[in-house]
Amino acid sequence: MKIAIYPGSFDPITNGHLDILERSLKVFDKVIILLAHNPNKKGRFSVEERLEMIKESVQKYPNVEVAWTDGLSVDYAKSVGATHLIRGLRAVSDFEYEFQLNSANRFANSDIDMVFFMASGKNSFITSSTIVELFDGGVDVSSLVPHCVIEKLKKDSR
Ligand code: ADP
Repeated sequence: MKIAIYPGSFDPITNGHLDILERSLKVFDKVIILLAHNPNKKGRFSVEERLEMIKESVQKYPNVEVAWTDGLSVDYAKSVGATHLIRGLRAVSDFEYEFQLNSANRFANSDIDMVFFMASGKNSFITSSTIVELFDGGVDVSSLVPHCVIEKLKKDSR
């Protein structure tokens, strides 16, 4: 069984993330979404809130699991027998960061390789922080995120 990890901040999960997830499920038998918690990065949502939104958004996919770690994604991958990390690429600006991350991960564990999916055109501008900024600015972002994320954003702003 081919297992991959999809690590990220998911602060919050967006339709851009789900697009990458769906496409990766055509390549791997099982994908584990890994909330890789970086305590130095102050997020909009807590780890618990993010996990809750991820779980609700992916419950329709049979071969997806959700987990979190405050360690390295490659260590988590090794511990569950995963062979690949999945990441998405939007603009060229993502490339530099992802290229560096790839080298760092490969330095940490050269057995785990990375697989990149290009953002679909309609999703290429979606980032978690853009969603929050647009929402805070009064823009309707309901076509860009799962329903539970809109509900959460609305609840928090009341
Ligand atoms: P991180 O803080 O680790 O970058 P994110 O949750 O922002 O976590 O992103 C996780 C991964 O998903 C990254 O590889 C990012 O490039 C990718 N990603 C995020 N949004 C999109 C999108 N709209 N289209 C394609 N890939 C995306």
